[in-house]
Amino acid sequence: MSDSPRTAQPLPSGSDLPIPWHLRLPRPLEGDFIRYLLQFSRSIIISSVTVILLLYAAALLVESSVSVALLEQNWRLRLFSFIPVAAVWWLAYTDEHPQLLQPAIAVTALTIAATHNYTAFSTDHPLAYIYYIGSILPILLMATIFRISLYWALSVSLLILTILIIFLAVDHRVHVSLSAAIFFLVSASALLSLVGHYFFERLQRQHFLAERVLAMHRNELHSANQALASEANEDALTGAVNRRGMAVRLGSLIHHARQNQQLGQLYVILFDIDFFKQFNDAYGHPAGDDCLKQITDVPISMIRSDKDFVARYGGEEFIVVLSGIQENDAVMFAERLRTRIEQLGIEHSGSRANNVVTISIGITGLVAGITRSEEMIKRADEALYEAKGAGRNKTIYLDEDGTFKHI
Ligand code: GH3
Ligand code: MG
Ligand code: MG
Repeated sequence: MSDSPRTAQPLPSGSDLPIPWHLRLPRPLEGDFIRYLLQFSRSIIISSVTVILLLYAAALLVESSVSVALLEQNWRLRLFSFIPVAAVWWLAYTDEHPQLLQPAIAVTALTIAATHNYTAFSTDHPLAYIYYIGSILPILLMATIFRISLYWALSVSLLILTILIIFLAVDHRVHVSLSAAIFFLVSASALLSLVGHYFFERLQRQHFLAERVLAMHRNELHSANQALASEANEDALTGAVNRRGMAVRLGSLIHHARQNQQLGQLYVILFDIDFFKQFNDAYGHPAGDDCLKQITDVPISMIRSDKDFVARYGGEEFIVVLSGIQENDAVMFAERLRTRIEQLGIEHSGSRANNVVTISIGITGLVAGITRSEEMIKRADEALYEAKGAGRNKTIYLDEDGTFKHI
């Protein structure tokens, strides 16, 4: 493997990302893009509805200049367009039926087109033509305000054009050449709006993909950072928590126990391998490393709570922190740990304590007046020193009153 430094790849910008001519993305991405559009529609729903209200007011205004009688006759009918508008509003706010939002926007567009334009067929007023042309307005509205997807906009455009053709065909008062002109103008504006929609949606899809790529990089970076952070707190040889991680975790356990008046429920077990220098001398440093790993695995396999942990305090000194436990159980845990390590049966001909590898243990609980991890470890170290002095392969408990108890 080459150990040359990795060259950083530049992040792709939106315009580098391939969007097919028909815009549709591969399966799961397409669904995500539609959800992304929905969120966009949702975020602009208040302005969209405001625009519809303005449109409604404008329609009333134009119609009143065409004919007040028509206005009086038709204003109620216009209110129908507010039913799908209300549905769109409701769908945008409740998150219950996201798949219905786009169809509801399409129905809104159709209703606006129908209720805002049909009156024009019964008048010769020149302003009425604005209505015909205006039938395309809902499509523009969807494109720029609601953000419906291109395929929905295309379907609605075709539907509106079909309805328009039917109206023009049945209304005999409109001359054929005028019908053709109206149809041409409406189709041309629909086409223009759809072309605009196409390019806008292309950009939006690129933006969506670029966001995706960025999110992927962010996630990668986050997990790399997390891995680095956990490596920074881990001892490379044994996999136990290192001294730095231990200080942080024990410090916060002490703080938590003191705050919750749980002084008698936090214990520090400090243990040290007996005659380890002789072990290295007799079997070699690599065998010593292997022995350290085997020994670490014993307390790791014994702890139950995820708040508890095993840390490598120094070369062949380890700390086990137990929380939420009573004095008796903590002391018994320590003694069980000592016997289990002895039972590993790792040959140690240089030891004067036994013919296998053994440990000496000092254990102490959190007592009143202790606020920092070092103070607690110092007490455990005093107990450990006692255990060494008492011949090694021993567990000694330093109790609340400062008395050493041989276990
Ligand atoms: P005691 O019973 O008094 O603890 O005797 P000891 O020989 O274990 O005591 P001491 O602390 O003097 O020696 C510790 C030895 O541990 C010295 C050092 O070579 C060894 N040691 C420390 N870290 C490592 C390590 O990472 N790998 C190996 N193989 N040995 C280590
Ligand atoms: Mg030592
Ligand atoms: Mg030692």
